[in-house]
Amino acid sequence: MTDRDLGMHRRITRRDFLNGVAMAVGGAVILPHRAASLQGNDADDSPAAVRTTARPNYPPALTGLRGSHAGSFEAFHALRDGTFWDTAGPIVSTRERYDLAVVGGGISGLAAAYYYRKAVGKKARIIILDNHDDFGGHAKRNEFTADGRTYLGFGGTQSIDSPAPYSPVAKALIAELGIDVSRAAQVLDPNLYQELGLQRAFFFDKETFGVDQLVVGYSHQLPDAFLNAAPLSEAVKHDVRRLLTDQWDPMPGLSSADKKARLARMSYAHFLTHVWHLDPGVLPLFQTRTHGLFGVGIDAVPAQDAWGLGFPGFQGMHLDPGAGPGQNYDAIRHPEAVDYFFHFPDGNASIARLLVRRLIPGAIPGSTMEDVVTAKANYARLDMQESPVRIRLNSTVVRVRHDRPGASPMGVEVVYVRNGRLHRVWARAAVLACWHSVIPYLCPDLPEHQRAALAYAVKVPLVYTNVLIRRWTAFQRLGARAIVSPGFWHTSARLDAPVSLGSYRSSRSPDEPIVLHLSKSPCKPGLEARAQHRAGRVELLFTPFETIERHIREQLARLLGSGGFDPAGDILAITVNRWPHGYAYQYNSLSDPFWLEGGEPPCVVARQRIGRIAIANADSAAYAYTDAAIDQAHRAVHEILALR
Ligand SMILES: Cc1cc2nc3c(=O)[nH]c(=O)nc-3n(C[C@H](O)[C@H](O)[C@H](O)COP(=O)(O)OP(=O)(O)OC[C@H]3O[C@@H](n4cnc5c(N)ncnc54)[C@H](O)[C@@H]3O)c2cc1C
Repeated sequence: MTDRDLGMHRRITRRDFLNGVAMAVGGAVILPHRAASLQGNDADDSPAAVRTTARPNYPPALTGLRGSHAGSFEAFHALRDGTFWDTAGPIVSTRERYDLAVVGGGISGLAAAYYYRKAVGKKARIIILDNHDDFGGHAKRNEFTADGRTYLGFGGTQSIDSPAPYSPVAKALIAELGIDVSRAAQVLDPNLYQELGLQRAFFFDKETFGVDQLVVGYSHQLPDAFLNAAPLSEAVKHDVRRLLTDQWDPMPGLSSADKKARLARMSYAHFLTHVWHLDPGVLPLFQTRTHGLFGVGIDAVPAQDAWGLGFPGFQGMHLDPGAGPGQNYDAIRHPEAVDYFFHFPDGNASIARLLVRRLIPGAIPGSTMEDVVTAKANYARLDMQESPVRIRLNSTVVRVRHDRPGASPMGVEVVYVRNGRLHRVWARAAVLACWHSVIPYLCPDLPEHQRAALAYAVKVPLVYTNVLIRRWTAFQRLGARAIVSPGFWHTSARLDAPVSLGSYRSSRSPDEPIVLHLSKSPCKPGLEARAQHRAGRVELLFTPFETIERHIREQLARLLGSGGFDPAGDILAITVNRWPHGYAYQYNSLSDPFWLEGGEPPCVVARQRIGRIAIANADSAAYAYTDAAIDQAHRAVHEILALR
C-alpha cells in the first residue's frame, strides 16, 4: 500500500518532531545545553516543534513517541559514554535541603516517599527527581479526546497482577490508597465482546506463512476448528495435534526432578524440534507467545517455564506439581495471586496517581479510587516551594554522593540536569529508585563487586502502543476482539478492556471510538536472553516514529482491511510508549547458572545500602511486577530510617 492509502499524510495528533532530532544524533551525545531544548514542556526553552505538538503541563495527553521520550535519556547516555562532564558547566546549588531525596518517580520512588512520610510525619521534606516529563515510571497514563469525550489507555504497567501473591506490605499499601481489588469483576464487563460474538484471532501473514489470513477462534489450546482453518501444511497440523494430545514421555526412566532439571536447561523451541522432533513450521505458532512475560520468544525461554505456563508437550511426562529449581512460572498459580487482580482504565498509572494525591494534596483532586480515574492532575502543583514533598520532572540525576568525603557523612549531594543546567540539592539520605544499571554511573562511592551486580540488571525492552480509532465495526464484522500477529512489528493488537469506573465509561458500541492496544517485545531470536534485550533496545533507539507509524497503519490495514478498516480515515491518534528499559530482568535458567544452582543472585548484592544511600526499584528484587517495586521501596526506606 502507498503512504497515501495508509494515511501517512493525515493530520492526526502523533508526530513528535523531537524524535527526528534524537535519532539524528543516535541518542549518544547530547550536550546539556542541547538537552535543555529537548527537555520537554518548559515553554521558554522549547523549540517551535515542541510548542506545536505538546500541550504544555499536561503530559498524559501528549501523543507520538512517548515512554522514554526524547529529552529524557540523552544526558544520561552522555554520562554513560563518559562525555557528560566535559561540557557540563557549573553546578548551581538550589540551596534546597531535604530529609530525603528520591531518584526515580516510578511506583517504587513514589512508594518510598510515601513510606518515609508515613514514618517521619507530614513535615518530612522530600524531593523526588525523575528524568521524564510525567511521573509514574512505567505506570504511565495515555489520554485521548474525540468528540469531547476522553478515552484512556495504559502506556505501560497494565494491572495489579503478579505471578506470586502480593506481600502483606504491598497489599497494605494498595488498601491504604483506597483500592479495593475485589471490585475487579464489577468494573469489567465480561459480556460486551462475548455478546457481539467477538473472539481471539490469529493472523497468518504471507511473509511467515505464505498467505495473509485471519483465523478467529484462536486460543492457547489451539482448538480443532482453528487448526482446520489455519493455512498450515498437513505435516505441521499433524505435528501440532501430536504435541497437543500424545501422552508421550520423551524422558522415560527419569525422576520428575531429573526431567525438570533437563527441561530447565533447554529452550521450549529446542524441546519442540529436538525432543519432539516436530516440523519447524510449528514454531511460529508459539514463538511470540512468551513475549508478554519474558520479552523474548520460545528460543530463549526454558522448557521448564513453558511447562509452568501450560504449554503443550508435557502431558505424558508426569511432572510433579510445583516449581523446580530455576523455574519462574509455577504450573499451579497460587489462588491468592489469581484473585488479587485489578485493572484501571489507565493501568497502574492510577496507583501512581493515588500515591501523588497522598504526597501532595491538591495535585490530583478527589479522594476515591473511582474519582482518580477522571481527575485531572495539576502538574503545576507538583514542585511548589511551600510543599514539604516536591516532584521535580524533566530532571536527570547525574551524581549522588556523600558529603564530606573521607569523614562520616552528614548527608548526600544529588546533582541533576534540568533545562540544560546542573543543579544540586542536599538531603540527609537518598533512595535510588531508578534502574540498577544507571546507578554505577551516578555513585562514585560504590565498591566494584556492587557495580558489577548492579550492571547485571539488563532491563527488558517493550513497546505498548495505543491507537485511537474512529470505530471498531471492522472488529465486529470479522468477529475478533484480539489478534495475535507474530509476523508484524507489533505482535498483538486488541480492543481495550471494557472497564468502566467512577464517571469513566468504556467504549460500548462498535460505532464509537475506542483505544486499540498493540504490543511488541523487541528482541533478536537466537541470542541468549540478555543479549536479545540489548539488541532490542538498540533497535528501539534507532527506529523513528514515522517508521513505527507506517508499521501500525500497514498492520491494521492487513489485519482488518477485509472488515472495512480504512487506516487513512479510521486512525485518530497514535501514542507509542517506547520502553527500552522496561521490565526488571528476571533470571533465566538457560543463561544464569546461579539461578539453577541456588547461589546468591546479583540483585541481593546490588541492593545493599551504601552509607546514607539505599536502593529500591523492581530491579532490586529481579522481579518485574508492581509488588516488587513497592516491597523494595519499603525495605530501602526502613534501611534509611534505621540510621536516624
Ligand atoms: C510496558 C510495561 C508493562 C508492564 N505491565 C505490568 C503489569 O501489568 N503489572 C505489573 O505488576 N507490572 C508491570 N510492569 C512492570 C513495572 O516495571 C513495575 O510494575 C513497576 O511499575 C516498576 O516500578 P519502578 O518504580 O520499580 O520502576 P520504573 O517504573 O522504571 O521507575 C523508575 C523511574 O526512575 C527513572 N530514572 C532512571 N534513571 C534516572 C535518573 N538518572 N534520574 C532521574 N530519574 C531516573 C526512570 O526513568 C523511571 O521513571 C510493566 C512494565 C512495562 C515496561
